[in-house]
Amino acid sequence: MSSHEPRESVRGRVRKAARFRCGYCLSHQAYVMSTLEIEHIIPRSLGGSDDESNLWLSCGLCNRYKGSQITGLDPADGSTVRLFNPRYQTWGDHFRWSLDGTRIEALTDIGRATVAALQLNNEIAVEVRRNWVLAGWHPPER
Ligand SMILES: [Zn+2]
Repeated sequence: MSSHEPRESVRGRVRKAARFRCGYCLSHQAYVMSTLEIEHIIPRSLGGSDDESNLWLSCGLCNRYKGSQITGLDPADGSTVRLFNPRYQTWGDHFRWSLDGTRIEALTDIGRATVAALQLNNEIAVEVRRNWVLAGWHPPER
């Protein structure tokens, strides 16, 4: 190695690119009790690589609900669609917050399938968000 510049780790770069938030429910690292996880957008079990382009941040809940899914069913018509890709798609194009800030509303087929597959409005998440709203921490500006 000829360079003496410190190399930022891939994990560090992914965290920074994700702005320290879950790519799906936008929970910020500062508000959760565990370290946000580096997730494979396309799971390794389906041939996804360890390359940075396939990595993003996810909270434990979203990561567990996502499991090895890359597609989900759009509840509107039962069609199979690709899940939201937090690295290459924009959250606000597919989702928005409910007026009270506790629920994620889908704007597209990708949004609907992702809300369903990752259970983005599961009881725990909605209850926690209710308290974040009361604390003035939520929803995030963008
Ligand atoms: Zn999440």
